[in-house]
Order: sequence, then C-alpha cells, then structure tokens
Amino acid sequence: MRPDLTDEAITSPVPQPLPPIAPKRWICCHCGGAGLDSYGEICLHCEGLGFC
Ligand SMILES: [Zn+2]
Ligand SMILES: [Zn+2]
Repeated sequence: MRPDLTDEAITSPVPQPLPPIAPKRWICCHCGGAGLDSYGEICLHCEGLGFC
C-alpha cells in the first residue's frame, strides 16, 4: 500500500467579492421625505431624515 499523495492544494474557501450594496435611502413612507409628520413634528418613522 502506497500513500495516496496528491499535489493538489487544499481548496480553501475563496472570499467572494461583495456585490455593490445600494444605500438604503428610500423616501419615507410616512412623511413622504419631508421629515415632518402632519403635525409638523419630526417624523418618528425616519427621525426627520426623510428616508427610511
Ligand atoms: Zn417611512
Ligand atoms: Zn418619515
């Protein structure tokens, strides 16, 4: 019995390149992007950013 030697390198998991991630900036569904609610207060849904 001879040892089964192979020259193949151990396959290591290749880090896959991350796909471009689009910034999550969607016009807030609550204030419509104004950042203020109907009462003129800072939209709690987007914290006044207008995006959520
Ligand atoms: Zn929203
Ligand atoms: Zn909002």
